[in-house]
Formats: sequence, C-alpha cells, structure tokens
Amino acid sequence: MAHERHFAQASFCGRERSMLRGDTTVQWQPVPARYCNMTAIVDPLSHDVLIRLRGVSKTYIGAGGRFGALSDFDLHIARGEFALVVGQSGSGKSTLLNLIAGIDRPSAGEIEVEGTPVHSLSERALSAWRGRAVGIVFQFFQLLPALTVAENVMLPMDFCRRWPLRERRPRALRLLERLGVADQADKLPGALSGGQQQRVAVARALANEPALLLADEPTGNLDSTNAAALLQLFGELVREGQTLVMVTHDRSAQAHATRTVELADGRLLRVLAPTQPVTIEGAGHA
Ligand code: ADP
Ligand code: MG
Repeated sequence: MAHERHFAQASFCGRERSMLRGDTTVQWQPVPARYCNMTAIVDPLSHDVLIRLRGVSKTYIGAGGRFGALSDFDLHIARGEFALVVGQSGSGKSTLLNLIAGIDRPSAGEIEVEGTPVHSLSERALSAWRGRAVGIVFQFFQLLPALTVAENVMLPMDFCRRWPLRERRPRALRLLERLGVADQADKLPGALSGGQQQRVAVARALANEPALLLADEPTGNLDSTNAAALLQLFGELVREGQTLVMVTHDRSAQAHATRTVELADGRLLRVLAPTQPVTIEGAGHA
C-alpha cells in the first residue's frame, strides 16, 4: 500500500515558527461559497500560504472505468493553521491528504507546499522532500513491529540525515518524553496500548521537524480518553507553530482548529471558519 511504502519517511526538517495562537473556544460559521478558495479572506491568521492546490483532480482507472476521487480542487492552507478535513466516507479526504504528501500524484492541477511543486517532482526528489518536509500520522499507527519504539522514531532521522548519528537516539527519547511514552522506548510496539502506539507515531512524524504535519483519522482507532488527549496534544503543537491538516470525524476537534474544509463527492463543499480571529499569543499584549 502507498501508506506503507512511505510512512517510514513521514518526517521533517522544519524551521522556527513564531506565530503562536491561543487555545480559544471559537464559534464556527460557514464561509460564503465564493470565498472558499480565497485564503486571504477566510484565513484569519496569516497570508503566509504553506499549501496551495490549484485545479487539482485525481482520477482512478479501474475495472469499472474512470472514477473521479477529487475534481478541480482549489485550496490554500496558511502556515500555522490547524485545518480539519471532513466529509462522508469516500468523499476524497484521504486522497486529498495523499496528494498533499506526494504519496499519490494528481491527474491534473498543481500542488505546492512551501513553494515546492510537489506535482512535478521526480520520485526520488519527492521522496527526499517528503522525508524532510512532511510528517504523517495514520489511523492504524503503522509502526514497524520488528523495531523498538525508539528505533521507529529514529527511522525518519536515518532517512533524512539532518542530525548526526549520535544525536538521533537522544532526540527520539526527547520526543517520546514530550509525548509521555519515554518509558516505552525499548519495547516493541506490539507491547503498547493503542493510545501509546499513536503517541509513538506522532513522535515519529515529528522526528525531522516537518513544516507540515498530516493526520488521517488519527483518533479513529482510539478510545475517547486517548482521542481527547491526542487532540489536546495536536492543539499544543499548533500553538507552538506546527501546521497541521487532519482528516477527522471527531467534531470536538473543531475546538482546536482554525478552519474546517468539508468535502462531498471529491469537491470542496464549504469551508467553516471561526466567527472571530483566534487570539495571537506573543503579539505584544499582556
Ligand atoms: P475518504 O478518505 O473520504 O473515505 P478516499 O479519498 O479514500 O475517501 O476515496 C475517495 C474515492 O476514491 C472513494 O470512492 C474510493 O473508493 C476511491 N479510491 C480511493 N483510492 C482508490 C484507488 N487506489 N483506486 C480506485 N479508487 C480509489
Ligand atoms: Mg479516508
């Protein structure tokens, strides 16, 4: 599967991000359809566009003929956003994430992430780019069962080689500490609970400090306590400057998000945005 081929490179080589947001409870309202593709209007945070999709389509050709999973899709996501992607099963959510991550190729259109033309990179360049720029968290964790927890987290660092060999394990341990699972470092993933495994998967996704964190139904296989804890953690990461795009069915995630993008039949149905700009921390006020 494409996921399995690429998850080991789900990682990151990012940068310091100064924009921090408050964890406010916000009300949501639909953005008029004519504004849906206009980040400058719907994005309350920044005009610094991290992800730009223009006229993106994805068509699968199978036994039943051609099937349009995504059709003429335009979307901008700003740096520092926590964007949710929602919609019914089969509406194209995973397709959208896989295209942004360069796991799948668009049939038409352009995808830029941090100015990198993801749609036109060679396989080799795409793989290197993904390893440094993107971290991915999946519903079923996708940890390598034969590697220890710490080795799983070190794997993207081994691909990316941003850190010297001697720094990789201490860095993995620091990430596991941050995720509250450092005491599991030398166990095999199979010995951990689902909630713990997903925390390890998040640590692995953060291993190379990716500019972009993607998560495809990350709470879908967690109990409600672990799901709430993961959303809380994602909220914290975003407040520290992480850009996060998450496919979810979990309505409570909206309390943490900057925008919700709703898909239907491979098209952008609407964008929900907070009624008020969320608080910007560190913007000069007490
Ligand atoms: P979602 O994540 O919203 O449930 P997906 O993006 O996985 O939806 O799929 C969108 C549509 O594309 C579905 O109808 C699905 O069956 C189809 N699809 C996804 N991947 C493939 C594939 N590799 N080959 C053929 N059809 C696919
Ligand atoms: Mg899906």
